[in-house]
Amino acid sequence: MNGRNAIPFLDLVTTHRELRLELTEVFHRALDAASFIGGPMVEQFEHAFAEFCGTKHCVGVGSGTDALRFALMAASIDHGDIVITAPNTFIATTEAITQAGGGIAFVDINAQTYTLDPEKLLEFIEKNCEFDAQTGKLTERATRRRVAAIVPVHLYGQMADMDSIMDLAAKYNLVVIEDACQAHGAEYFSKKANAWKKAGSIGKAAAFSFYPGKNLGACGEGGAITTDDESLALRMKMIRDHGQAQKYYHDIEGYNGRLDSMQAGWLSVKLRHLGYWNESRRRLAHRYHELFADAGDAVVVPVEAPWMRGVYHLYVIRVPDRDGLRLALADAGIGTGIHYPIPLHLQKAYEHLGYRQGAFPVTERVAGEILSIPMFPQLSHGQQDLVVTKVREFLDERVAMTP
Ligand SMILES: *Cc1c(COP(=O)(O)O)cnc(C)c1O
Repeated sequence: MNGRNAIPFLDLVTTHRELRLELTEVFHRALDAASFIGGPMVEQFEHAFAEFCGTKHCVGVGSGTDALRFALMAASIDHGDIVITAPNTFIATTEAITQAGGGIAFVDINAQTYTLDPEKLLEFIEKNCEFDAQTGKLTERATRRRVAAIVPVHLYGQMADMDSIMDLAAKYNLVVIEDACQAHGAEYFSKKANAWKKAGSIGKAAAFSFYPGKNLGACGEGGAITTDDESLALRMKMIRDHGQAQKYYHDIEGYNGRLDSMQAGWLSVKLRHLGYWNESRRRLAHRYHELFADAGDAVVVPVEAPWMRGVYHLYVIRVPDRDGLRLALADAGIGTGIHYPIPLHLQKAYEHLGYRQGAFPVTERVAGEILSIPMFPQLSHGQQDLVVTKVREFLDERVAMTP
């Protein structure tokens, strides 16, 4: 089992080998119909994905970033409105906020779920904002700007505590757009609804990415927005297609942000397997939990809140000497990743926001300790055992080295 990349971080090749016939059939169908953008394959996929998420509508778009941007634009984020999100996400979340005309405000995460902490959200609202009960308007004190929306990010396939976030949103008139780009099929038990709800079916709208490595990945770029709101769905359809509902009648300026027909066809093929793949990821995650159990405090494994069924887009552990462990695993041919090494508020791109080191202690602490280890539906038990053995060996050596 030695050699370079004996165990890849992610294996997309096996999936495509397994589905080769179905996938090439889509290609031939698109060639024969010469239908490459929009059309029946896109509509079929949108219908199936809305059903999968438990929403009334799905709008296929060019990427997850498009999905976030168009959802925020359609939800009428006015120029300069503040949108709250977490600092430990991929930059696409905040790029979309800025590009939709919004201003970014960060709120720290919960140390267990790594998602937006509702208590810190409340603290931000109470300490940094003013609420005018008459107009129903929340204003950020420092900038005098209206606070308009929250973008909770369901990171690693774990969901944010949506009941608490939705309660605050209702109380302060904020729109909630879920960033579900890593959470296709994750479920949240809503006490309010007394039911399990899929990621993407709770906020006003939700963004999904079909970047190849996501739980549901295209063979190229792709994304989708889900919503129950028909007028919002219509607006998003116009925004993705140059602001037109009818060819060459442009009501607004929009974007070229459509989903390709072939991508939609390939996504429809893969969607039929997503439930099984997610189950497989969950089983592997629980097996990792067990295998790491007797490492004690040396390895912090993901915590699945009782109100959540995660889909383990990533399996993220925490160890003190993360960089050392990463090198040791690389030496053993085991691929890993860091999601994400530098919190957004400390990125050069956001220098102008004026956040300093120490602003979000939980995010900053975990950024130095997190390591994503191999996780994909076809990961074998043997491969998993080897990963755990190598992690344990590294930790044991460190213990032996400390006097
Ligand atoms: C992947 C991802 C995005 C962006 O999706 P693209 O399809 O790459 O544009 C946004 N947010 C999160 C949390 C993601 O993981």
